[in-house]
Amino acid sequence: MADGTTARIVHWAGNQPYPGGSGDYAPVTNPATGEVTGEVALADARDAQHVIAAATAAFPAWRDSSLARRTTILFRFRELLNERKDELAAIITAEHGKVLSDALGEVTRGLEVVEFACGIPHLLKGGFSENASTSVDVSSIRQPLGVVAVISPFNFPAMVPMWFFPVAIAAGNTVVLKPSEKDPSAALWLARLWAEAGLPDGVFNVLQGDRAAVDELLVHPDVKAVSFVGSTPVARHVYATATAAGKRVQALGGAKNHAVVLPDADLDHAADSMVNAGFGSAGERCMAISAVVAVGAIGDDLVARIADRARTVRTGDGTRGTDMGPLVTRAHRDKVRAYVDQAERDGAKIVVDGRQVRPEGEPDGFWLGPTLLDRVRTGMSCYTDEIFGPVLSVLRVDTYDEALALVNANPYGNGTAIFTGDGGAARRFQNEVEVGMVGINVPIPVPVAYHSFGGWKNSLFGDTHAHGTEGVHFFTRAKVVTSRWPVTSQGSVDLGFPRNI
Ligand code: NAD
Repeated sequence: MADGTTARIVHWAGNQPYPGGSGDYAPVTNPATGEVTGEVALADARDAQHVIAAATAAFPAWRDSSLARRTTILFRFRELLNERKDELAAIITAEHGKVLSDALGEVTRGLEVVEFACGIPHLLKGGFSENASTSVDVSSIRQPLGVVAVISPFNFPAMVPMWFFPVAIAAGNTVVLKPSEKDPSAALWLARLWAEAGLPDGVFNVLQGDRAAVDELLVHPDVKAVSFVGSTPVARHVYATATAAGKRVQALGGAKNHAVVLPDADLDHAADSMVNAGFGSAGERCMAISAVVAVGAIGDDLVARIADRARTVRTGDGTRGTDMGPLVTRAHRDKVRAYVDQAERDGAKIVVDGRQVRPEGEPDGFWLGPTLLDRVRTGMSCYTDEIFGPVLSVLRVDTYDEALALVNANPYGNGTAIFTGDGGAARRFQNEVEVGMVGINVPIPVPVAYHSFGGWKNSLFGDTHAHGTEGVHFFTRAKVVTSRWPVTSQGSVDLGFPRNI
């Protein structure tokens, strides 16, 4: 405890807490009450160097530890996490604000990646060609990179780090996780769990902080790869800086996800999906639907069905059985509310207005209820910008082709969905849409762990997506070995280029 009432949230290096020396701290709040519940250490470059040094020292031994040992620890971590996931969910709700069931869902999706990483012996098998040339064999192997940095956003304090670190660690790398300074406690909890699972000192480390911490990770020579998730402007900065410093980088950015609803769709299913995908986690999901594209004459009917459902959503403290929690900070809530004010001035129709929502008994929480905007046009800021709040905009078009053109013209390409009863139209959409993850009658098409997660265009900078086989490739590099073991002495000199004989 720092002052008897708030927790001091520090770094983690070499399997123990590390206070750091910067002397800088930022407040951490409970968004449902507005109370400051902790203060998180903000690393300076020296603190970052200390944590990176712990990861660097641990790499040689971890890289050489057997696959059997690594998977034993991973299985133990999986069992511990599964047993105690409620504890982690409570930490997420207390700092992020999402309702407990949603926090538990986040942990469960992260667990999937741990389970995927438990299969690392199979994923690292490599290839072997006997007699590629006479008595010459060729094998392809994949080796770990060294220290890798994972830099994560506020909206999934457990799941997004878990998209990366189970695979990175299983592949033999050591990790420095830099969580969001808005909800930093989940990362520390996970670090303690790794220690309990028997992970050697320094394999998993946590560096708390903001831009200063990130900037040191991007240029430090011992950091070999960076997995970043956050807003598009920061993703661009991370990608440009770390690739210029010679690192391998995957930088996942922001999103504007469209759901196209065709006239033949089941409108009740579509309306349920819009409400779940638009207002779940208060719209603070990179795969949230924020733009509904109603095709043809269904617009009024669809808007009415979404509005009816949106009005039933109970907003309030996520520990009290509500449907939707607060936004993460007061500043973020005010920013989202300002987008609604601007949309109204721009001529959008406010069908459901969340600005007046005040859950009883929690006057200081960062509240904004579900908000439905109709007659939105593509030039309005509520459409051009990623709002990242519980605001659903409805745009109306006449044809499928107009809907497709609208989605493809958007600079983001994270997720999208189509709602239709027509298999041919759905197939055309999956083929033609320029977006990385597509749902067909599925509003939030987050891939399972053995497939890979990632968007296109301004939603991802880099070549490789997260987890699945792409994740294994990202955290390993290829080596090809050509070998000959002569049974008799060759004794001859040949300066020619090797040929296949
Ligand atoms: P953010 O970009 O503000 O922060 C992300 C991380 O970068 C944090 O750890 C933060 O401390 C750090 N950071 C912030 N500003 C920085 C700067 N100027 N220089 C260096 N580092 C900096 O994002 P956020 O608000 O925490 O998260 C929300 C954003 O993340 C949304 O845009 C959302 O779409 C995106 N997101 C994307 C995905 C995806 O898969 N594409 C997933 C989750 C979230």
